[in-house]
Amino acid sequence: MDRLSRLGTVLVTGAAGFIGSALVRRLKARGAPRVVSLDALTYAGDLSRLEEAGGEPGHRFAQLDVRDLDGVLALLREERPTVVFHLAAETHVDRSIDGPEAFVQANVVGTARLMEALRRYRDELPAGERERLRVVNVSTDEVYGSLGPEGVFTESTPYDPRSPYSASKAGADHMASAYFHTYGLPVLTTHATNNYGPYQFPEKLLPLALGKALRGEPVPLYGTGENVRDWLHVDDHADGLIAAALRGRPGETYLFGGGNERSNRSVLEALLGTLNELAPTGRDHRELITLVPDRPGHDFRYAVDTAKARRELGWRPVVPFEQGLRDTVAWYLEHRDWLDSVTRGRYRLERLGTVGVAPGPGGGEGTA
Ligand code: NAD
Repeated sequence: MDRLSRLGTVLVTGAAGFIGSALVRRLKARGAPRVVSLDALTYAGDLSRLEEAGGEPGHRFAQLDVRDLDGVLALLREERPTVVFHLAAETHVDRSIDGPEAFVQANVVGTARLMEALRRYRDELPAGERERLRVVNVSTDEVYGSLGPEGVFTESTPYDPRSPYSASKAGADHMASAYFHTYGLPVLTTHATNNYGPYQFPEKLLPLALGKALRGEPVPLYGTGENVRDWLHVDDHADGLIAAALRGRPGETYLFGGGNERSNRSVLEALLGTLNELAPTGRDHRELITLVPDRPGHDFRYAVDTAKARRELGWRPVVPFEQGLRDTVAWYLEHRDWLDSVTRGRYRLERLGTVGVAPGPGGGEGTA
């Protein structure tokens, strides 16, 4: 695996989020000399995720909204990053159903302004630095729509977003692509499947189910529970993003998936079965699983072909799902204070995105 000591300064937007903070930890662990973490600290942002990296001299946090073109441009001029990872976004599908406008603002307007700031920054750089610059636009498999029981998304699958979240991510991707084709901005786009791991905001499927189960509350499962997702450990995703920055070709698209297709029901059963083992209480937590009315427009299945990322980036996922799930449950058990502090004020595990459906006992499936 490449050491990153020769990488210049790296900028990560959305760095106080679930995946952004995992990427920052990964960059530091792999020897990146300087990482600048940018985040607006919305309800989903949490600085405690950056604590491990935060104390280091090679790390700086900047509270900024990506829509603040002047502020972002000033930061770029000051820090002169050679790699920019763009993860800042509104990310929860259920919230996008309740309020699409915030998603258009953060994801479409935010990405458009960031690309413009990057274009101006790039134009000021001397030739050598200009050629080194790479921008990684981090997207989701959800922009491709919904699959039936067979087949996979590839880089050439046409966009067909179904939720306000995925539509806003599609808009963001199109802006990034436009800046490549129109202005030659060296941006490439990655699409990952459902991520799991430590520090995920508890509105998403796995930490939500754990939080509910630990309180002895019903664990909601949308619809029939047969919807299928491919699960990718967040550290594998972070390594994929780093590989894309090092070896990806500007203007290209790369897909990252874990190769772990599971129905939501089987994921919850595996998760709560692991909880039974790691924190036995005498009860079977799987009995808490409760079907609730489905999410409107709920995509049935997502899966991606990762051959191009493997071939061109030399990337492959290395965390086996059962091990990753076990480590994730263990992490949440060790960090119940984090889970409790996040759910105390900003979000109390209530169900979101119930426009058109009867509210159930609460909670929802993640970005996906
Ligand atoms: P998250 O919600 O945990 O974090 C998003 C972060 O962005 C938060 O810290 C928030 O404060 C910040 N943010 C939001 N709006 C901002 C703005 N206008 N300016 C600056 N910061 C802002 O999300 P995540 O799960 O870590 O996802 C990160 C990225 O990866 C997103 O772009 C998402 O679409 C993409 N993605 C996520 C998954 C997944 O399974 N979670 C899968 C594929 C792709």
